[in-house]
Amino acid sequence: MSDTKVAAAPEQSLLPTYARYPIALVKGEGSWLWDDKGNKYLDFMSGIAVTNLGHAPRQVKEALIKQLDELWHVSNLFRIPNQEEAAHLITSNSSGDAVFFCNSGAEANEAAIKMARRYQQKVRSNGRYEIITFAQSFHGRTLATLTATGQEKVKEGFAPLPEGFKYIPYNDIEALKAAISDKTAAVMLEMIQAEGGIYPADPAFVQEMVQLCEENGILIIVDEIQTGMGRTGKLFAYEHYGIEPDIFTLAKGLGSGFPVGAAVAKDKLREAFGPGSHGSTFGGTPIATAAVKATIETIVGERLPERAAEMGAYLMDELNKHLAGHSFVKEVRGQGLIVGIECAEPIAQVLTEAQEQGLLVISAGPNVVRLLPNLLVTKEEVDQAVSILTQLLSNAVKV
Ligand SMILES: *Cc1c(COP(=O)(O)O)cnc(C)c1O
Repeated sequence: MSDTKVAAAPEQSLLPTYARYPIALVKGEGSWLWDDKGNKYLDFMSGIAVTNLGHAPRQVKEALIKQLDELWHVSNLFRIPNQEEAAHLITSNSSGDAVFFCNSGAEANEAAIKMARRYQQKVRSNGRYEIITFAQSFHGRTLATLTATGQEKVKEGFAPLPEGFKYIPYNDIEALKAAISDKTAAVMLEMIQAEGGIYPADPAFVQEMVQLCEENGILIIVDEIQTGMGRTGKLFAYEHYGIEPDIFTLAKGLGSGFPVGAAVAKDKLREAFGPGSHGSTFGGTPIATAAVKATIETIVGERLPERAAEMGAYLMDELNKHLAGHSFVKEVRGQGLIVGIECAEPIAQVLTEAQEQGLLVISAGPNVVRLLPNLLVTKEEVDQAVSILTQLLSNAVKV
């Protein structure tokens, strides 16, 4: 090895894809994280909506340890009992009928896009391929899913992008009517735009969208990667709207931190994804699906969506109570434990100051502080976070 290679700091061996904070987190338990210097942090970002059961949850840890002793990986050319049982847990607790497992959110959306196109082209034989998505949406970083994403910043420098995506303003039914053509295969949306700034879908828009799609043979894909797994106060956010998506996608909280994703489809889509149509080496391994099983059993068994609804209401009430009248704060919005505090100006500085006070939060767009505590967060922890945020956001006014 050359001397310069040996001398380089270890972090130089990573591509600089992330603007990283100078904090190295090394241990986690429940709502708390510790860095390598022994500092303790209250975690209100949960690895971006991943550790919904807190850090190192006992039930999932035990299931993983048991599985590590038995079997790690076999090919999807064989039956995988954990995978079947995890899929059954998803379908018996949702409107979906059949699951494809993969390893990430982008892959889950990629599968959904492929499934929708193939359904239209092979099952309905109509040649449709176009997917309509929304401004400010976020659907992932693969070529197809960054193209589906309604934000220019994720696309810069990656041309040429795959064809067949169209963007319209969120919650705009007239724009949807105008965008639909005989090429439209599916509409894809988040029920709450998360990365985009915590913007909820308008119920009236959603009802009209569903009717329009039914009349025109268009599939509905709901991206539940951030909103799913109990966070919004229901197991899946589409339940708030009384709809049944043709396909919905999961990742983030699905394995409590073990990487796993899923595309969940209605019966009629089985034919679109027959043998050989799609696949993934690691999709749904015995280990990954042990994590999924334990995660869903815990969320459902301990009624954590209800808990998220209650704690979320408490969090929003407290924020509204303490932040009312502060000129820096424009609005507190969200559902369950996905909450955004929209501010008058960029909040990057607030995030850093919060870290210095021992609170980890994240942004959603430049001006929104996003709070994503785990679903088992306590009232005392909420009070602590609200107190730090109130102090920081009221100071921010003076700047
Ligand atoms: C995080 C996220 C994705 C992408 O998931 P990855 O696992 O990072 O590929 C897609 N959609 C939404 C709504 C997300 O929040």
